[in-house]
Formats: sequence, structure tokens, C-alpha cells
Amino acid sequence: MPIETVNPATGESIKRFTPLTDAEIDERLAIAERTFASWRRAPIRTRAEVVARAGDLLEQRKLEYGRLMTLEMGKPLKAAIDEAAKCATACRYYAENAEKFLSDEAVDAGDVRSFIAFEPLGPVLAVMPWNFPFWQVIRFAAPALAAGNVGLLKHSSNVPQCALALEQLFVEAGAPGGAFQTLLIGSPAVQRVLEDDRVAAATLTGSEGAGRSIASIAGKAIKKTVLELGGSDPFVVMPSANLDAAIATAVTARTINNGQSCIAAKRFIVAEVIADAFTTGFVERMRSLVVGDPMDEQTNIGPLATAQIRDDLDDQVQRSVAAGARLVTGGKRREGAGFYYQPTVMIDATRQTPVFREETFGPLAVITPVRDLDDAIDTANDSRFGLGAAAWTTDAAEIERFARDLAAGSVFINGMVASDPRFPFGGVKKSGYGRELSEFGIREFVNVKTVRIQKPKTEGHATTE
Ligand code: NAP
Repeated sequence: MPIETVNPATGESIKRFTPLTDAEIDERLAIAERTFASWRRAPIRTRAEVVARAGDLLEQRKLEYGRLMTLEMGKPLKAAIDEAAKCATACRYYAENAEKFLSDEAVDAGDVRSFIAFEPLGPVLAVMPWNFPFWQVIRFAAPALAAGNVGLLKHSSNVPQCALALEQLFVEAGAPGGAFQTLLIGSPAVQRVLEDDRVAAATLTGSEGAGRSIASIAGKAIKKTVLELGGSDPFVVMPSANLDAAIATAVTARTINNGQSCIAAKRFIVAEVIADAFTTGFVERMRSLVVGDPMDEQTNIGPLATAQIRDDLDDQVQRSVAAGARLVTGGKRREGAGFYYQPTVMIDATRQTPVFREETFGPLAVITPVRDLDDAIDTANDSRFGLGAAAWTTDAAEIERFARDLAAGSVFINGMVASDPRFPFGGVKKSGYGRELSEFGIREFVNVKTVRIQKPKTEGHATTE
């Protein structure tokens, strides 16, 4: 895959980049190692100040960064600007809380002094996706840098200008040159970087296939990984729900980011007594969405990020139709330039149908009626993924059941799944492992070190490990 900016709204190639050579990669790794040796010793407060300044710059430049995101991957401009602003919030959150999260924790164990320290691991490779080209990177970089690690970013090949802007951002925020470097490399070069002894750990946000590959390379090299992979989030609506609010939120939850979000609601699981009313309202709203130029303020849904993603989505629709599912609206590419796809709703799909079984990345929804609460939970959990889940109900007993029994990293009741720096984010099952954001996120890439300072004893050795 070339490292290239292609405007998805037009299909036009804007700029191509030459990947780093092996020698250049080596040079970057050497710089990372050198920088880590001093950065790890900088006071937490100093590191937090750099992260805070990065947050200020993100806020100041949100329009510029927003335009870059929209140009390279096609999300509506307003959403892109909001993404840059959200990055600023995450930077502020870690700048304010890093000292609290990383300070030594004293343990009273009868020693002269004993404590748990949280020390950085070293250079961390971050393999990132294009769908939230700033947010995915910042939610790794802000806590990792505050903790004293240094970052090596391998971004998606279709967002090289975002990747370079992020490197520049940290330089301007005052980080030493090697604290956050962008490596313009293709995915085949990831193996040699990850196997290199100078790289301590890796985080990947991306597909299941990429996760499997990175986890196996890291496993052989015995390196810690965090994997944030795909999702096929259920959005359950029960009879007691406020139906209008549920429908409005359901459409937003499906179409956010042109439908290309890991935590977009993808399977709409609706109590059969309200399924017709839900479907009518949902389809009406999907049809009213404005599909068009993502730079235009009126646009709700821009193009998909690449021609391949649009073609994959269309293939899922066609295979689902062949398997017996029915199209209520949409189901076609938009003719002309750009990688557009119509907002699409399918019904009459079994749980074996591709639209139910596979992750769908685009404005494609499937509605599945269910008999009762048990059927709703069983249907929602019938997925290889377990990233997020939403359920709409006002019944207290149902709320408790959904909160406890939905198999997902996040459960939202009467809302839509969204990330927030104050809460951990991640998945179970094939959605990956480890957590980003909150205190849990900053502690993923640290050595949780036990330190016990004892009085020398003369009476022999311990008998257990
Ligand atoms: P992808 O194809 O897996 O690409 C993600 C990143 O991994 C890119 O930088 C890509 O580089 C690299 N990559 C791909 N295959 C690789 C391999 N075998 N070895 C090493 N690196 C590899 O995923 P995508 O299509 O860009 O992104 C969409 C996926 O990400 C969806 O499944 C979505 O659900 C998931 N996602 C998850 C989260 C989460 O937090 N859980 C958030 C956002 C997205 P190239 O571009 O050079 O191929």
C-alpha cells in the first residue's frame, strides 16, 4: 500500500511519500533509545507540562488539523474539528493527573520503607488506524509520554500528513526530538521494528488480522502489547425505552465518522413489539441524512476513506442479500467521483448473515427483532467481538441485567458508546485486550516495580518465592 494522501471525496491523489529505508529506521530507533535515557528521568511534572502544551496547540489549531483529517480520510469537517478538540481534553486530563497516577504508592509491610513505583518501559511502537487519525494517536501518546516512555508512530498509509503533523506537534510542545517520532513505513516493515531490542512494547489499534500479526511477533519477542481491535456493537431497544430518543441516538451511533468507528452501533436488536415502529423511524432518519462533500457544513455523511473500504462494504451487502436479508433502504455506491455509499438498512437477516456476523465499516445497519430480555442479551452477545454495547430501557431490573450481562468493554444505558479520558476504553473477545484512557491506560506501559528497603537480617533465607 503506497504511503499517500488520496482525497476520498474525489479519488484524487494529492501527495505521495517515500517510505523510510532500513538505515533511516535504524537511525530513528537509535534516537528513540537515546532520548528515552534522559526523558525517563525528567520529573513527571516536566513531562506533564509538555503534554499540556500539546493540548493547547491542538485546541489552537483544531481548524487546521480538522481540515487535514477531512482531506485525508473524509470525515465531515465539524467532526474532525471536534476530534482535535477532544485530543486537547485528553492531553489536559493526563497533564493534570499524571503525577497522581504515577507517584509511588507506599505499602506498610514492616520494612524500613516499601513502595510500588511506576516506571516507563522505553520506546513504544504505536500502530494506528486512519479512522480517528488524531484521537487514536493522542490517546496513546499523552499518557505514554507523561509516563516517561517515548513513542514511535506507524500510522495508516493513507494519513501520512496527519502522522507528520503529530510528530511536529510534540516537537513544538517542547518534547525532546526523539520523544515522539513518526516512522513513514508500510506494514511489512513493522516486524523488524517490533523485533528490534530497542523497542520495548507495542500498541495497535486496527483490525483483527493486524492484531493477530502484531501479537504473534511481540509474543515471540516477549514484549507487552495492547490491542484495540474491531467491534460489532449491539444497540438494544426494549419496550419501555423512549423510542424517539432511541431512534435519533441509534442513527447517530451508526453513522458517526461516516459509519467507520470501532464503537459505532452496528447491530440494532429491538423488542419485537416495537420493531416495526423502530424500523420506520430509523429508516426515515437514515434516508434524510445528507451524503456529500465532507468539507460542506450541511453534510452528515462523507465518503468512505478508501475505495477498498467502500467495495468491502458493498460486498457485505451483496453477500447478505444473497443469504436472504432484505434491503429497506440504500445498498448502492454513489455514482461519480469519490468513495461514497448510500446509508443502508437491512432486515430479515439471521445471525449467520454477514451483516450480523462481520464488522461493517460504513453506514450500514441491520435490525434484528427479539422476543424478550433473555433473547436480547443472547443475541447481543452472539458476536466474536466485545468492544461496546448500548441498551435502551427504563426498567430497573433490565438495566441491571444489561449492565452485568452484556459481554463488552463498555456498556452504555440510554446513550451511545463513546470514549472519554476519565473512563477506561478497550474490549474483550476478538476486540482485543488491555485498556486505554483513565488511570488504567497510563499504567499499561509501565514497570510496576516493587521496592522494599529492609533492615539486614541474620536469621537465614525465606522458604517461599
Ligand atoms: P488495519 O488495516 O488493521 O490498519 C491499522 C494499522 O495497522 C495501519 O497502520 C496499518 O498499516 C497497520 N497494519 C495492517 N496490517 C498490518 C500487519 N499485518 N502488520 C502490521 N501492521 C499492520 O485497520 P484499518 O482498516 O485501518 O482500521 C479499521 C479497523 O480498526 C477496524 O477493525 C476498527 O474496528 C479498528 N479500530 C479499533 C478501535 C479500537 O479502539 N478498538 C478504534 C478504531 C479502529 P497500513 O495502513 O500501512 O496497512
